Parts: sequence; C-alpha cells; structure tokens
Amino acid sequence: RAKAAGGNRYELADADSDARAIARHSLTNRLPAALDNGEFFIEYQPLVRLTDGTVRGAEALVRWLHPVHGVLGPDQFIPLAENTGLIVPLGRWVLQEAARQARAWHSEAQYGEGPCRGPLRVNVNLSPTQLRWPSLVADTVLVLENAGLPPSALCLEVTENALIGADEEELRPLRQLADMGVDIALDDFGTGYSNLSYLRRLPVSTLKLDRSFTRGMQRAPADPVDVKIVEGIVSLAHTLDLSVTVEGVETGTQAEHLRMLGCDTAQGWYYARPGPPERMGTLSLVDAAS
Ligand code: C2E
Ligand code: MG
Ligand code: MG
Ligand code: MG
Repeated sequence: RAKAAGGNRYELADADSDARAIARHSLTNRLPAALDNGEFFIEYQPLVRLTDGTVRGAEALVRWLHPVHGVLGPDQFIPLAENTGLIVPLGRWVLQEAARQARAWHSEAQYGEGPCRGPLRVNVNLSPTQLRWPSLVADTVLVLENAGLPPSALCLEVTENALIGADEEELRPLRQLADMGVDIALDDFGTGYSNLSYLRRLPVSTLKLDRSFTRGMQRAPADPVDVKIVEGIVSLAHTLDLSVTVEGVETGTQAEHLRMLGCDTAQGWYYARPGPPERMGTLSLVDAAS
C-alpha cells in the first residue's frame, strides 16, 4: 500500500517514522533516571464552581523537564511510561506529591477574600495500568495518611475508556476507594462508549465532560446540537446524583452557557492555565456568576 503512494513519499514517511521511533526509544530509556533525578513536576489547574465562581480545588497535571528537550507534556511521555510499567512508580509519585500539596493548601488556610473558599481538593489522573496495580488501594490509603489528608480531599480521575468492559472484580479497588470517601471522576466523558446502565454500576461521583462537547459554545450563537447534548448529559448526570465538570472552558460566553445549562464545575484557560502550586493562593478569577 505504501509503495503505491510513490517511491519518494514512501521513503520519506519511512525515515520519519524511524526518527520518531528512535526519539520514543530514547525518551523511554530515560524515564527511570528522570524519576530518580526529580525531572518531573506538577502544574495545577483550578476547578471553579460555576454557581459562585469560587475555586474548589485543582487538577494535578504532570510535566517532564527534560534536560535536552525542555518541558514535555504528559501526552509525550505518559503512553511510554504506560508501556514500560514506569507509570506505576511515576503515578505513585504524582499522587504523593499532589496529596502533600493539597495538605499544604489546607494548612495555609489563607482563603479569606480570594476566590479559594474552604479547603482545596486535588484531582489526580490514573491511567489504566495504575487501575490494575494490586496495591492501588493500600498505597492510596498510605499516601493520604502520610499527608494527613482526608479522603474527601482527593479526587481520582479515570477515563471512560479505561473502565469500559471492567467487571465487578476489576472495579472493586475503585469502589473501595469511593466507599472510603475518595471522589472518583469519569474523565473525558463522552469520548468512549458507556451505555447508561453501565454508568449506573460505576463507583463514580463526577462526570468530566470532554472538551469536544463544549467547543461549540465558545462564541455566541452556540451550536444548538451541542447545547442539546450537554443539556441531556447534565440531566442524566443529576438524575444519577453525579456532578458535572466541564473541561476546556476558554471563553466567558462558554462559561455562561455551561452555567445556565446546570454544569457544576468548570476548568479551562478562561479561568487559569495550569500553573505552579503557589499560584492557588493568589488567584484572582473572573466572577463566573456575574
Ligand atoms: P486531562 O485529564 O483530560 O487533562 C486536561 C487537559 O486539557 C490538560 O492537558 C490541560 O492542560 C488541558 N486544558 C486545560 N484547559 C484547557 C483549555 O481551556 N483549552 C484547551 N485546549 N486545553 C485545556 P495536559 O496537561 O497536556 O494533559 C493531557 C492529559 O495527560 C490529561 O488529560 C491526562 O489524561 C494526562 N495526564 C496528565 N497528568 C497525568 C498524570 O499524572 N498521570 C496520568 N496517568 N495521566 C496524566
Ligand atoms: Mg484529567
Ligand atoms: Mg479530562
Ligand atoms: Mg480531556
């Protein structure tokens, strides 16, 4: 098939994919040393309550400060860490670090006038391998204990695709965490295929609606189909007692639409880009409820 595309293009595409494979290989090889050398760091992106514009917490998003390539985003190395199993120690580090940070926010308690009211919660992403990691529950309990953080201050984000097809046995660790009071969010909701009866069986308390559904509301007039879809999802979620978080909110128009559609929490560049943890105390946010 590739040959039919013509000699030159065939060779170019080949050289290109070789280069990419080599780059992937060298990044993959460096991952363990990067973890030992402390090259990973976490940025935090605020989660804003739409009804009053207050900050409820933040999502922890990992980055890699590579000595040669500079800052790499998770999409560039999480899949590699998944393939090699390094995701388990890396994920444990993220969890530990995020819990420690949330504890620090709790103790600072400098939330008087700013948009941060009450103790901030922290959201941590889990990838499919981490879900099947046998000591997930024990390690999470330990991390919370060591940080002195109540389970309710932690939200674990799991993608819909990671859970599709999971049976009761495979869901048990998440259910145990949920029973302890850890919030479980279904990330990138709507991009996979979970039927409604399946949703009922999951131990989740939050749906994080994928960006693709809210893009059509960035400018007025909003895309009427997107409006209907979000309306439907919100009403379904609330019927099932789930809260709805929207990601990728980039404009005020979008925020206002989503607030009127009954979405509970929002995250996106309109409020703040992911940033260093110290910024949480000094945020000055647009008033979402104005
Ligand atoms: P996600 O969990 O869906 O995270 C949201 C992504 O959307 C983040 O990308 C964030 O920077 C980006 N984003 C936030 N607001 C906006 C906006 O207004 N507009 C646009 N266009 N984008 C926005 P990021 O940081 O590159 O992370 C990508 C994915 O990597 C995350 O998607 C998550 O699935 C994964 N990830 C991040 N940190 C971790 C981690 O510690 N462990 C694991 N397993 N996965 C992680
Ligand atoms: Mg997430
Ligand atoms: Mg997401
Ligand atoms: Mg997403």
